[in-house]
Amino acid sequence: MSLSASASSRESAFPSRPRVSLIEGDGIGPEITAATLHVLEAAGGHLEWEPVAAGMGAAATLGDPLPAATLASIEQNRLALKGPLGTPSGSGFRSVNVALRQHFDLYANVRPTRTIPGVPSRFTGVDIVMVRENTEDLYAGIEHYIDPRRSAAESICIITRVGSERVIVYAFEYARRLGRKKVTLVHKANILKMTNGLFLDTGREVAKRYPDIGFDDMIVDATAMKLVVAPERFDVIVTMNLFGDILSDLTAGLIGGLGVAPAANIGEGCAIFEAVHGTAPDIAGQGIANPSALMLSAVMLLEHVGQREAAARMRAGVHAALVDAATRTGDLGGKSNTKAFTEAIVRAMAK
Ligand code: NAD
Repeated sequence: MSLSASASSRESAFPSRPRVSLIEGDGIGPEITAATLHVLEAAGGHLEWEPVAAGMGAAATLGDPLPAATLASIEQNRLALKGPLGTPSGSGFRSVNVALRQHFDLYANVRPTRTIPGVPSRFTGVDIVMVRENTEDLYAGIEHYIDPRRSAAESICIITRVGSERVIVYAFEYARRLGRKKVTLVHKANILKMTNGLFLDTGREVAKRYPDIGFDDMIVDATAMKLVVAPERFDVIVTMNLFGDILSDLTAGLIGGLGVAPAANIGEGCAIFEAVHGTAPDIAGQGIANPSALMLSAVMLLEHVGQREAAARMRAGVHAALVDAATRTGDLGGKSNTKAFTEAIVRAMAK
């Protein structure tokens, strides 16, 4: 099957009540996951949850941050909703988030950022979809110290033509499916001529197959500046793993912050949905976390499995509760907590 054909057939038929592996996550994960399941059910979503463990919690209780039973569950279900997972910085176990993406070859990380009416932010009219390559680049994790004294360290940036092509094709197919006008490829090929040059060359080749979609490319540093000066010039962005990680936090900032930024990790026949943000250890356990990003990720999951009515109801409910300062959480300048915000969404959906 050609790459473009497989991309367009990705959303194939799902059962009326698909089974979904559920990782509640670390830090604020359990709080926002409970709120998300509550709202999803009230929206009329039909999903059967299979709770599984991963992350710091699993490392502490089961001695393994990514237990075999969790991998087996996702292997079976091919769908997961995931709360944020903590990763120790420097030493300690490798990121479970990265491991999951690599294990299931979830090569496209799709991060839509669209201005939400009423949510305080410096910009209006932002509507950007970041498609981040999810399995290669410096995140392949191939690094070592050059000597026992750790006087220097090296990291290898892996970019392949196949890996570049499939994510760039995904971005173009996504643009076509969603009626978008342009794909901008972000790189640093002026300095990293081979790795980033390969990604850029592949993009130029793929773009020729999509004459109906505009294409341009931009160097990452210029992109960072242009995103905060004129975000409206961007439509779909496709980029490599590291740049995509950094720039998608930036685009989240354009629409009010990490609290409202959802994401989907997409592979061939497998998808994991998660918020862009992390475990927010500074507010964990206080009941004040904003569950919107995970809820909007669950909306993407509902859309992915074809439950579009429930998805639309849930998105409208979240947006309605976000419009009102009285029901917004503290990160968005509100005074509400997770529970009251969740109840406001359910009330809005019942209207
Ligand atoms: P973070 O995203 O957890 O937090 C950054 C800031 O945003 C904090 O001030 C936090 O309170 C705030 N914030 C984040 N989500 C929020 C929410 N839903 N509601 C209100 N405020 C929110 O980033 P960090 O502190 O750099 O990372 C903490 C841990 O999360 C690290 O172990 C990191 O590796 C991990 N992490 C995991 C993922 C993931 O699971 N996909 C993503 C990023 C970071």
